[in-house]
Amino acid sequence: MPIAVILGGGFAGLTIANKLAIKLKKRKEVEIVLIEPADLHLYEPGLLYYPFNDKPMSKLEKPISKILRKNVKHIKQKATKIDHENKKITLEDGKVIDYNCLVIATGVDLKEESLGLTDKDNVHHFYSAEATLKIREALKNFKGGNIVISPSTVPYKCPPAPVEFAFLLDEYLRRKKIRDKTNIKFLYPLPRPFNIRVVAAKILKLFEKKGIEFEPFFNYDKINTENKKILSFEGDKASYDLLVIIPPHEGQDVIKESGLGDKEGFVITDRETLQVEGQKSIYAVGDCTNIPASKAGTVAHFSADVIVKNMISKLDEKEPTARYDGKTLCFLVTSSSKSFLLDFSFKKEPRKIGLHSWRIYGIMKKLFQYLYFGGLITGRI
Ligand SMILES: Cc1cc2nc3c(=O)[nH]c(=O)nc-3n(C[C@H](O)[C@H](O)[C@H](O)COP(=O)(O)OP(=O)(O)OC[C@H]3O[C@@H](n4cnc5c(N)ncnc54)[C@H](O)[C@@H]3O)c2cc1C
Repeated sequence: MPIAVILGGGFAGLTIANKLAIKLKKRKEVEIVLIEPADLHLYEPGLLYYPFNDKPMSKLEKPISKILRKNVKHIKQKATKIDHENKKITLEDGKVIDYNCLVIATGVDLKEESLGLTDKDNVHHFYSAEATLKIREALKNFKGGNIVISPSTVPYKCPPAPVEFAFLLDEYLRRKKIRDKTNIKFLYPLPRPFNIRVVAAKILKLFEKKGIEFEPFFNYDKINTENKKILSFEGDKASYDLLVIIPPHEGQDVIKESGLGDKEGFVITDRETLQVEGQKSIYAVGDCTNIPASKAGTVAHFSADVIVKNMISKLDEKEPTARYDGKTLCFLVTSSSKSFLLDFSFKKEPRKIGLHSWRIYGIMKKLFQYLYFGGLITGRI
């Protein structure tokens, strides 16, 4: 019996597993297997709001058993190696799983430990549930001073997230009545805070209006926790009382071990076919790839349709013809009640930003969690 294996059950892996399960429901000849060590799935886009509220983190979580369709077998383990010549995957306990077709969806490895910090350094981020609870406490205790925001590497998940965080932070500090005692500084390695010019211009205008200082070309090098300074490779520095740093992103060890990654361990993937370089039976999806698209759930969602179509074509011994065009949809939050919607692809950039529907998009972004768990990740949409 052909075996379709999905390696990694985050947003991308669960979406693909469920979409395949729907399409192949009546075709009992294919076994669908998901390899994922976790029991719970976290709705990551919600992490953006949680530093500024008191809600329990459990509101962002759902058991994988409640998301995954019955005709998918879940193996709760980590994979350690992909033997692509013999189409075998080795698991942590030494067992070996065969596949006919494989989808890699292992996401990114956040290298927090490489920052070399301790809990008392007042250096934080909001890219995991645990870290978000800590930054929430730090913000509660914050009485004023310098807050610096900076990514440590590019690319990182959800390119607008640090900008959105800055806007929400500004609003939070105003609510706490300590905005006038606080400087917010946004350091960025690139010349502008978003790769699309028209969006960057809008962000810079809002930064100016809200008194958020922007410093481009700041390539993070290290943190000096004794002097509370963040330093760049170019020799620039900024003093902080609270530092928000997006941890370094790399591909997972299993990718590096299997020789399928670039130098950061991201899977070398064709941006249109989503096939892994030199591998006819392996696709890659989501944050784990090196395609020139955002590391975002929306990219995973549109890519998933392409991969599922091509896998089914292969099963039917037809030529796989579906192609990903870089389609990305993104609500960029500018306050707790407003955001603007961006729609772009490899070939199409937004030329102007709709100004009129900000509030409605703000509401949509907040309600998105229902669509995410109800339709997207279950493979229905
Ligand atoms: C704060 C924040 C806000 C965001 N906001 C948005 C937003 O508004 N819109 C948007 O589109 N995106 C947003 N994103 C990005 C989005 O959450 C990610 O792009 C998406 O979750 C990526 O899904 P993925 O499946 O590729 O990776 P992940 O969800 O990280 O899943 C990878 C899975 O692989 C598993 N895995 C890893 N290694 C192995 C192994 N060796 N063996 C087996 N399994 C393995 C992991 O356990 C994990 O479950 C945001 C992200 C963050 C952090």
